[in-house]
Amino acid sequence: MTLHNDISYLKGVGPQRAEALQKELGIYTWGQLLLHFPFRYIDKSQIMKIRDVQSDAVAVQIQGQFISVREIGEGRVKRLAAIFSDDTGHIELIWFKGVKWAKAAIQLNVPYIIYGKPTEFKGKYSIPHPELELLDQSRIASGSELKPVYSTTEKLGVKGLNSNGISKLTRQLIDEVNGKIPENLSQEILQRFKLLSRNDALCQVHVPSNLAMLDQARRRLKFEELFFIQMQLVKQKLLNTRMERGVVFEKVGHYFNEFYQKHLPFELTGAQKRVIKEIRADVARGHHMNRLIQGDVGSGKTIVALISALLAIDNGYQACLMAPTEILAQQHYNGISELLAPLGLEVVLLTGSTPKGERRKIHEKLLNGEISLLIGTHALIEPVVQFKNLGLVIIDEQHRFGVAQRAALWKKATLPPHILVMTATPIPRTLAMTLYGDLDNSIIDELPPGRKPIQTQHKTDAKRLEVFGFMEEEIKKGRQIYVVYPLIEESEAMDYKDLQDGYESLVRRFPLPHYRISVVHGQMKQEARDYEMDLFVKGKTQIMVATTVIEVGVNVPNASVMIIESAERFGLSQLHQLRGRVGRGAEQSYCILMTGHKLSSDARTRLSTMVETTDGFKIAEVDLQLRGPGDLAGTQQSGVLNLRIADLAKDQKILAAARELALEIVDEDPHLTIEKNRPIAEHLILMSEHKSDWSRIS
Ligand code: ADP
Ligand code: MG
Repeated sequence: MTLHNDISYLKGVGPQRAEALQKELGIYTWGQLLLHFPFRYIDKSQIMKIRDVQSDAVAVQIQGQFISVREIGEGRVKRLAAIFSDDTGHIELIWFKGVKWAKAAIQLNVPYIIYGKPTEFKGKYSIPHPELELLDQSRIASGSELKPVYSTTEKLGVKGLNSNGISKLTRQLIDEVNGKIPENLSQEILQRFKLLSRNDALCQVHVPSNLAMLDQARRRLKFEELFFIQMQLVKQKLLNTRMERGVVFEKVGHYFNEFYQKHLPFELTGAQKRVIKEIRADVARGHHMNRLIQGDVGSGKTIVALISALLAIDNGYQACLMAPTEILAQQHYNGISELLAPLGLEVVLLTGSTPKGERRKIHEKLLNGEISLLIGTHALIEPVVQFKNLGLVIIDEQHRFGVAQRAALWKKATLPPHILVMTATPIPRTLAMTLYGDLDNSIIDELPPGRKPIQTQHKTDAKRLEVFGFMEEEIKKGRQIYVVYPLIEESEAMDYKDLQDGYESLVRRFPLPHYRISVVHGQMKQEARDYEMDLFVKGKTQIMVATTVIEVGVNVPNASVMIIESAERFGLSQLHQLRGRVGRGAEQSYCILMTGHKLSSDARTRLSTMVETTDGFKIAEVDLQLRGPGDLAGTQQSGVLNLRIADLAKDQKILAAARELALEIVDEDPHLTIEKNRPIAEHLILMSEHKSDWSRIS
């Protein structure tokens, strides 16, 4: 079949270019070149004049030339500024990153098309990090109105395969294969969803006849991409729940009842009760449970985990709870062992710093079943840790664990233990469909009663004295305060200096012996960090100055103020996580976002979102729109999101339709044996031969 032809058999591709295509873009076959989609199109009819740039709302395309380039500033503020002009005026193009590269790429006084999003400052526009396209007059003159732009690399460029070069190859390829590209959906689906054929979509996406056809082609290819991912996930889910045998926790027994009736420290919220019910139904069935619990910070996931563990223990199984950091594991251990103390169960902590001798004892007790509940960090997944009969694995703060690590836990029992994944990073619904499409989903969408919503304010650095005054009042009331600084690898030295300066000015304003300040950051030794943290947890220090080390899960109910310095440099989900460190007690809590004066429009959106809402799902939705799915917390490790054409932020409707269809098909024809589903079945086999790493999420 032609699509499997070696790329070197294409006219215009010799052995050298073939090698470069393989190495640089992973393109070995004709079919793979066909799937190397343009990421953008230059639409000749859409070129804007510089005079007409009047809004920073949308990206613009301008044809013109560079008249000057210069570097400005030093160190962190070093940037490249170029003046770009057309016959109506000029505009500044700016690079803060990749200065060297941009400088080398720019030639003066030759025609370019540039593309980017203008930003306005004091009535003047500039464009940060525009895309540059050296204008090739002949290509534009001969081609259609819409010229595809392909991603490529420096090495391919040297071999004549810049975007234009790749475009020539794909045209060549389409001449060869047009009319012969097989369909992978049924005719019924094409009609029902009004989709172009695969053949036409793949031709049009590379050589569009017009904008309308291009839109249709892209819609068809997005649908196809999302649909096949959903087919895999939905089939996997079916396998998990219907086919995979799991241990059975059939009874609610002594420990569960005893705890529930006598030792529950508070009334559960409706959402907590509902989720516990869902879990009970799962584990009683004899199928394998794979459940994700999403619950905002402070929604009370721990107690749900603990009660689930009791279910396992009541049925003669062991449970383990895995946390991403030592501090968190320790906190879980402290809280849980206290709650379970009256039941007389053996709860044990195992982390990287557990001494060797003790460790050996723990290993023994796990094997002979004396330990009912093991709490710990990554240390739990080392092969030497073996259980007598592990029935339930609870993973807290899911996004810190990779797929492989989860798989390792899975192997610790003959029948796979039930798996509960708890995440405090709310994920927009559409994203969850894809990231966790094979898991069952529970949502704790209710906070325990009596919580006062955290009040959030945005303050500029000029208001710092006012903020100090406010801190003093809160401390007088006996509260504690976090002050968090950003820490970003590229500017690490500067960031530590900021933190140090901030710490010193706090010490001057809040001196001993009245006040004590803890400081925690990544350059400190672990013991020193734990020591300082401990002082704060015990209420011996009033202020904790830190980098984002404290982001995950730390619980100090008496802390009522979170001050985030340079808040514009944090992402939304990080801001939300940080804010979640306060508001854990009965007191009114506050979050203060400190920034300088000049802010990008995205940063403004982030800050105003934080001020307006405390709803994690709303915040996640805004985050998805701002950043796209690839950058959201929890998604980085996931190959699911290496999409070729679909965009989980923008294509939510297509995704919902594709998932709906996948569910329908798998429900009707789980093994895809009906004739009309044959093209789908064949395509899935093809996909599994080129196996990607995401088919098994847990
Ligand atoms: P998270 O979901 O962030 O892990 P936790 O489980 O740490 O939240 O719970 C946050 C705080 O709320 C804890 O101090 C916990 O004891 C308390 N809590 C949990 N559930 C309830 C409830 N139903 N009523 C009152 N307090 C609760
Ligand atoms: Mg928690």
